[in-house]
Amino acid sequence: MAREVEKKAVFDTDSAKEVVKELRASFVAGKTKSYEWRVAQLKALLKMTEENEPQIAAALRDDLSKPELESYIYEIAMLKNSCRLALKEMKRWIMPEKAKTSLTTFPSSAEIVSEPLGVVLVISAWNYPFLLSLDPVVGAIAAGNAVVLKPSEIAPATASLLAKLVANYLDSSCIKVVEGAVSETSALLEKKWDKIFYTGNGRVARIVMAAAAKHLTPVVLELGGKSPVIVDSGINLQVATRRIIAGKWGCNNGQACISPDYIITTKDYAPKLLDSFKRELEQFYGKNPLESKDLSRIVNSNHFARLSKLLDEDKVSGKIVHGGERDKNNLKIAPTILLDVPLDSLIMNEEIFGPLLPIIMVDKVEDSFDVINSSGTKPLAAYLFTNKEKLKEKFVATVSAGGLVVNDTTVHLAEHTLPFGGVGDSGMGAYHGKFSFDAFSHKKAVLYRGFACDAFVRYPPYTRRKLRL
Ligand code: NAD
Repeated sequence: MAREVEKKAVFDTDSAKEVVKELRASFVAGKTKSYEWRVAQLKALLKMTEENEPQIAAALRDDLSKPELESYIYEIAMLKNSCRLALKEMKRWIMPEKAKTSLTTFPSSAEIVSEPLGVVLVISAWNYPFLLSLDPVVGAIAAGNAVVLKPSEIAPATASLLAKLVANYLDSSCIKVVEGAVSETSALLEKKWDKIFYTGNGRVARIVMAAAAKHLTPVVLELGGKSPVIVDSGINLQVATRRIIAGKWGCNNGQACISPDYIITTKDYAPKLLDSFKRELEQFYGKNPLESKDLSRIVNSNHFARLSKLLDEDKVSGKIVHGGERDKNNLKIAPTILLDVPLDSLIMNEEIFGPLLPIIMVDKVEDSFDVINSSGTKPLAAYLFTNKEKLKEKFVATVSAGGLVVNDTTVHLAEHTLPFGGVGDSGMGAYHGKFSFDAFSHKKAVLYRGFACDAFVRYPPYTRRKLRL
């Protein structure tokens, strides 16, 4: 009996049904639609984050040994900024947008009304488990929806902290966290949602999309890919190197969706770039990076084994020119650079999502575009370091990716005026800033007419004379 009491309740399709039923009742009653409710929830989310910063950082340390500064900058501060922006701008976002009308409906006026979609599901990933869980929730609340959040089981400390905090601070009749892995997510996916917002890999995205299709539920899919960095000569090499390091090893030790995945540079420039990497990496992480407190660990032994397999492939193992040290017990891998890896190797054919960085060499920097485009997939981000205007133009015109940055890496995600999302294999839909509000809103077309000017031409009988008008 005692054992049964201790057993955690199983979350199955019946539980999912209950959750959706409760949230739908709240939505239908209009609870989430009022401006006051939205403001109160966003303020509560901000307060929740502010009052629990040490606990959030500790959970991220447990899950990923994420350095505190990274937790603060990339998760806590970004979430707070999202809440503050929504609180500041939401009134404007909610306002109906006037639309022009034409002679066809004269006299008339028109507007586009943003209405909430209803009850939405957010499924998030483990690498930025706090931000990726709550940032979409900010958009869902601002747009007036009820939300179920399913955080990643691969970051369990953060997932259970989220469940506790959300229940304590937010309106639990409209916003709930469901913890769990595949079976719990599958139970949730059986239900009818008004939108599913999924962050994670492309394999599971296909499962999510297939489940959504059964109910004609729209989806946002925030996925990943192999984000390339083209490095031209004649640049400020030290600044470029540091910015690549910050986007790669400084972002969760490469376990970030927009981290540089591989570099393309010319055969002539590669030795200089490599020297610069060695110099700067030693400055940042010391002579024994496995002991550095400023590098996250690999999230679990499965991912450690996956990354090891990429490094140990015969055609790749001899190409390590920097790093390569591993500590299996502590799940640590040092920043590792590989030079001249074959394009048909494993490491060049899957998203690396870790601290390994291959450098591909080309004869001319312009050849880089062919390397990217011949992969046949569209990355989430692409980066170019150059001073040449023509090369920048060609980059923007020829490389298709979720987002591009010239002369830096990853920082576009901090600009709320830019949509953040993928294209093709890297996903569909976008969020951040007002794009988050739009992702969770239906844009309802409304046309207003009076009774004047009742054009007779549209009414039968359809005479020849009417056709000529
Ligand atoms: P993950 O393993 O945490 O999975 C993501 C979510 O899918 C989890 O909540 C998990 O419970 C759920 N899930 C897993 N298997 C499932 C199944 N069979 N059925 C239903 N749900 C299932 O995270 P991941 O996929 O390893 O995340 C890494 C990937 O996510 C990388 O490709 C990365 O690029 C991408 N990513 C993208 C973004 C972005 O904003 N575009 C951000 C972070 C990560």
